[in-house]
Formats: sequence, structure tokens, C-alpha cells
Amino acid sequence: MADKLMRKFLVAAGKPLSLASFPTDDTLGWDKDSAKGELAKTISLMSFEQHRLMAEAKQSLLIVLQGRDASGKDGLVRHVMTGMNPAGVQVTSFKVPAGTERMHDYLWRCHAACPAKGEVGVWNRSHYEDILVPRVKNLVDDETWSRRYRHIRDFEHMLVDEGTKVIKFYLHVSHEVQRQRLQKRIDNPESSWKHDPSDLTDRRIWPLYENAYEDVMRETSRPYAPWYVVPADVKWSRDLIVAKIILNALQAMDPQVPAPDDSLKGITVE
Ligand code: ADP
Repeated sequence: MADKLMRKFLVAAGKPLSLASFPTDDTLGWDKDSAKGELAKTISLMSFEQHRLMAEAKQSLLIVLQGRDASGKDGLVRHVMTGMNPAGVQVTSFKVPAGTERMHDYLWRCHAACPAKGEVGVWNRSHYEDILVPRVKNLVDDETWSRRYRHIRDFEHMLVDEGTKVIKFYLHVSHEVQRQRLQKRIDNPESSWKHDPSDLTDRRIWPLYENAYEDVMRETSRPYAPWYVVPADVKWSRDLIVAKIILNALQAMDPQVPAPDDSLKGITVE
């Protein structure tokens, strides 16, 4: 089942990509109630694997979350990642680079946020912003952002060679559902603090982002660090799809709890 899911939403390496060909509202025939139970089961299996990952302390998992405003990156962190032991999970939200970050190359802050051995790192936005934003907003010349595809491929390949599994999710929300969510956010006094005027500016250049995301995924989805385009119009199926793909990744890592030390035999704690 998980294998089928992974194939369905996987971005093929190096092939032209059209986001329009990926669904935004596919719920895979699940219904909301059973998906809730299935999510709880999946999270508890994730947590079991994460426990083994921490005990083994040899591999790491890096989960990259990208997507338009209101696509549900924060919701995913809240509903899926919180099922794991927080002692072994580091969530990093990347904002517009500021202060010292601006004095370094763009990968500097990302490298510092990579998960240590035994840890899971979750990136809410990522180094991909360093291609997307400069490109759509014309902040640097084309050559500068274009060569970053190669930098990022090499950077991720290095992480993988050194023991980090990398999986990347694009939360694929439709233009209409984004409109509804941004409107609801503005109208609801409990959530209006989340409104950022730049969300509306970015919405106006929707096609520019669409093209930029398509190119990014075509250039950087590789078997060692794949992209998944996850339908994100329906929150409960979005969470379940991502959770299942993460579980599958953890199971493939197959972390091993260290064998008991023979010298412990016969020791009695008094
Ligand atoms: P979010 O929109 O993810 O909920 P924020 O409202 O704090 O969180 O927005 C973060 C903003 O920082 C986004 O507009 C994003 O595009 C921007 N950002 C993140 N990384 C970079 C980067 N490397 N270069 C430019 N902008 C960035």
C-alpha cells in the first residue's frame, strides 16, 4: 500500500513535470473517520521506528516540507510529527534570512539545522526557498539561482552518503482552496494574527511560483532524495499520506537497537 502511494505521488527524476497533472484533492478512497484511526496507527508505528533510530544512533532522517501559503505545513508538523518523541525531533522553520544568516552562503543555516545521528529533522520551508524566492521576485540574476540546483543536489547527496535519509514533500493545494483558507484565516479573530500581507502578493504571482516549483522538483528529485507531490486540499488525507510515506522511509532505514552487552549478564541493581 505504502509503496503504491509512494509511486503515485513521486516526482520522476529529471523528467519534465506539470503540477497540473498531480491531483490536489485525491483522498484515495479513504473516509475521514477511518483515516483518523489509520493516522493514529501510522504515527504509533513511526514512533516505534523512531525509538529504534535513536537507540541505534547511526542514521538520520531529514523531512523537507514545502508548499504555498496555507498548504498545511504547520498543520502537518502539529498533527503528524508530534507523535514522535520530541527529544529526537528537531523542527526548523526557515524565515527570510536575517542578521548573521545573510553574512554566509545560503546553505550555511541549513547545514547547521541538519539532524544529528539518531535524530529526525523536519524543515518547514528550506534551502529550496533560496531558489524559489530570488527567482520569482527577481532578487538575483538568473545564473545565481540556476546554479543552486546543482549545489542542492550535491549537498543532499553528501548528506545521504553520510547517513541521512532525505525525503521532500510539496503540499499541493489548489488556487481555490488556498483562497478559502486565507479568507477564513482573515475572518476568524482566533487566526487573523497569522495573516501576512505577503501571502496575498505571492498569490497574485501564482503561475510564477508554479513554474518555479516545477523546475525545482524536476531538477532535484532524485532516487537518493525524492520529491513527493501530496494532494493537500483535504487535510486529513494529506496528513495520512505524508505519515505513511515517512513510516515507509523509517522502515526502509531499518534501524537496529544495539545488541545487549554480554558483560551486563548477572548484574543486579541493588
Ligand atoms: P510561513 O509562511 O511558512 O507560515 P512565515 O509567515 O514566517 O511562515 O513566512 C516565512 C517567509 O520566509 C516566507 O514568505 C518565505 O518565503 C520566506 N523565506 C524563507 N526562506 C527564505 C529564503 N531563503 N529567502 C527568501 N525568503 C525566504
